[in-house]
Amino acid sequence: MNDTQARILDGKATAKAVRADVAASVAALVATGAKPPGLTVVLVGEDPASQVYVRNKDRAATEAGFVVDTVRLPADVPQAELEAVVEGLNANDDVHGVLVQLPLPKGLDADRVIDRLDPDKDVDGLSPRSVANWTLGRPGHRPCTPAGCIEILERHDLPLEGQHVVIVGRSMLVGKPLATLALARNATVTVCHSRTRDLAGVCRAADVIVAAVGVPKLVKGDWVKPGAAVLDVGINRGEDGKLVGDVDFAAASEVAGAITPVPGGIGPMTIAMLLSNTFQAAARAQGQDPDAL
Ligand code: NDP
Repeated sequence: MNDTQARILDGKATAKAVRADVAASVAALVATGAKPPGLTVVLVGEDPASQVYVRNKDRAATEAGFVVDTVRLPADVPQAELEAVVEGLNANDDVHGVLVQLPLPKGLDADRVIDRLDPDKDVDGLSPRSVANWTLGRPGHRPCTPAGCIEILERHDLPLEGQHVVIVGRSMLVGKPLATLALARNATVTVCHSRTRDLAGVCRAADVIVAAVGVPKLVKGDWVKPGAAVLDVGINRGEDGKLVGDVDFAAASEVAGAITPVPGGIGPMTIAMLLSNTFQAAARAQGQDPDAL
């Protein structure tokens, strides 16, 4: 192996470690006589990718000692009925976290559904009240993918303080919340998008590049400053059916100091952070301090 090859930030192994910590905290919570964390996923329609994500979340949560339920609804469910399901879960004391699997089928208004979610149970951290909480730096759930990006860096002793973080992508799901979370850790943040001029040049100035775009291999090896950390959030299906990220992994790993692979990078971290959020919701809902368990 070439000496200059980047250190691989193994999301699968790191997520496993996060999940083991969560499982130990769940055991401590249950030992106090409290209920185990309850996570309900609302799955509308038959989108094959969503089915796979939900199955993976279900397995990981069950292994960590959660009670997991999936509410399956047909693609033509009326908006009012879907919103009523969410209201019912808000009122159910056995349910501590609710995840509405996105995207919803055409004809359904995802914003109106998410708006209904009790912010304490919004373990995806995407409802307007959650957005206000993380923007204002108040307690509340942080979105799972950005939280997973921060966690994988911290667990590899790559602190963000003082680092120039360049985020490619400005979605509400990844780019924008990550910018806020990185700023809160005293990084200097640049957020890029489809209208950014000289994207390659901006990336070359980064100590940490996060690619969250949805364009296969957009970030080239010569966009990476030697020694920089590269987090690849992208999940794209290549023509050969294989998953490929937003970074040209082979070329970038010749230059970077550390890099996440696809698959096995940020994807598993996202699920681990969902469990962490749900555990915290369960502890708080039952009057326990999650940090003390
Ligand atoms: P969106 O489509 O919502 O946002 C994509 C962003 O990339 C936009 O801000 C867009 O700019 C920008 N963009 C598009 N093309 C270019 C370009 N050529 N140059 C620079 N910027 C560009 O995507 P998401 O944030 O939801 O997801 C991004 C990727 O991450 C996808 O591959 C998705 O599958 C993956 N993902 C992975 C997760 C995981 O768990 N690992 C979780 C969530 C997403 P503009 O705003 O100007 O349109």
